[in-house]
Amino acid sequence: MSDPIIRIEGLKKSYAGGVEALKGVDLDIEKGEILALLGPNGAGKTTLISIVCGIVTPTSGKILVDGHDNQGDFRAARSMIGLVPQELTTDAFESVWATVSFSRGLFGKPRDDRKIEDILRRLTLWDKRKAKMMELSGGMKRRVMIAKALSHEPEILFLDEPTAGVDVELRRDMWELVRKLRADGTTIILTTHYIEEAEEMADRVGVIRKGELVALGEKKALMAQMGQRTLKITLD
Ligand code: ATP
Repeated sequence: MSDPIIRIEGLKKSYAGGVEALKGVDLDIEKGEILALLGPNGAGKTTLISIVCGIVTPTSGKILVDGHDNQGDFRAARSMIGLVPQELTTDAFESVWATVSFSRGLFGKPRDDRKIEDILRRLTLWDKRKAKMMELSGGMKRRVMIAKALSHEPEILFLDEPTAGVDVELRRDMWELVRKLRADGTTIILTTHYIEEAEEMADRVGVIRKGELVALGEKKALMAQMGQRTLKITLD
């Protein structure tokens, strides 16, 4: 088996004020898989993602992204990663095209209009390229957030609760989009509160609770091992 694209070893994070958000997480993520991190509010999912994306500094622990070590020069790792955060981070007055194109520039990638066009088409945003962000529906805004995260052609995509607060139709839309991205070879890590979402989308599911990875496995094996009922209790 090839080396994992992400290796997390003994990851701990304590925030000022004494909250132990992560208490020593070990996790290998394989290239090309969809991994769902399932857990209730405050479990530590966003903290884990933020550390791997280089936004939050861990208290201790090691992360290797395609061999790049977070204790050394992590810039190369960052450029391999796209992040779709929970909150929208776009300028209401900016156009869709400018939003996505500007994001590519932030990663130091040369301007490439063909590439931006390709991303917008894949996300069915091409017809909306001239629209201002404030003119878009919630679903379209989420698509732009994904387009933004893909603008520098990352190999790994983190989606932090991509379907929180969205209706059933849009949720299914997101699921389909994620499957398409995976078919293109992107490794995807998403967080969710919904068991059915983890079951529907992921190859493997990790359950995080109070800063610990309490279960990890192929979704069917995990569901059978823990039982839907136990999983629900884990989440409550
Ligand atoms: P949610 O599903 O609500 O997004 P989560 O599983 O992503 O939750 P985190 O956001 O990682 O959980 O939070 C883990 C713990 O760390 C929580 O107790 C939270 O209050 C705390 N925490 C997160 N960010 C900070 C911060 N910047 N300063 C202090 N405490 C924080």
